[in-house]
Amino acid sequence: MRHLNLLLTVMLLTFVSGCSKNAATGRNQLILVSSGDVRAMGEAAKPELTKQYGGEVASAELRAYVTMVGRGVAKRVEPQYSNIKWEFITLDSDIINAFALPGGKIFVSRGLIEKFTTEAQLAGVLGHEIGHVTARHVDERLSHVVAAEFGLGMLGQASKSDFANLAAKMITQGTLLKFNRDQEQEADSQGIKYMVRASYDPHGMLEVLQILEKASRGSTKLEILSTHPDPKRRIKTVRALLKGKYAKTQKNPKYKTWAGRFKRDAMPHFSK
Ligand SMILES: [Zn+2]
Repeated sequence: MRHLNLLLTVMLLTFVSGCSKNAATGRNQLILVSSGDVRAMGEAAKPELTKQYGGEVASAELRAYVTMVGRGVAKRVEPQYSNIKWEFITLDSDIINAFALPGGKIFVSRGLIEKFTTEAQLAGVLGHEIGHVTARHVDERLSHVVAAEFGLGMLGQASKSDFANLAAKMITQGTLLKFNRDQEQEADSQGIKYMVRASYDPHGMLEVLQILEKASRGSTKLEILSTHPDPKRRIKTVRALLKGKYAKTQKNPKYKTWAGRFKRDAMPHFSK
């Protein structure tokens, strides 16, 4: 009985210390891994993931353009995240995908960028991925798996390499970067928030989802939907945000699509 009490106390303590309010979303999360640890995992996973998608695009101009757009959006995150070293990686792949590793590594494929016609759309997809990072979705997912795998009472005895092995296994199996529907909606609304702060027309986010939804009816290379599910439901939510909370941005010249700049600086570097 005493043993049981002790176990319950340990569990309770871990829960209390593991629960924190997210600076971007205001939501309470169970986080059992340190941001330093997950950042190191992101760092370790980057070369393998980049290679898996054919490396970075050869065009230095396209890489610089994506980085310029990404940095412009990432500058607008909450001050609690001001020390993140954002990195934007343009993958030389026809596969339509975008994903983020904790620590601020944002990947977007050439195949996805080539579907776009405006800079606001690119800012939308990058904002969504930045939103996954600030909402700490990978940290959260890893924490739930860690709790299930090691048992909350045993956490103190699990070593850093245990965590790292587990995360590496999940990255290889493609399960670490899979998000649930609520996390997707959260990343959309974070992305829109950052886009608006950067004076982009947030309608670009809606267009990204419409592009993905349309492409999903034909292409077989829509890997993005297996990790970022349910575009139809997300379209509805984003529409509601544009009509409600962000109504003032619509038909407002202050919020731009930068379609001309996209045409001038990105499109000439497309593969076809
Ligand atoms: Zn997502």
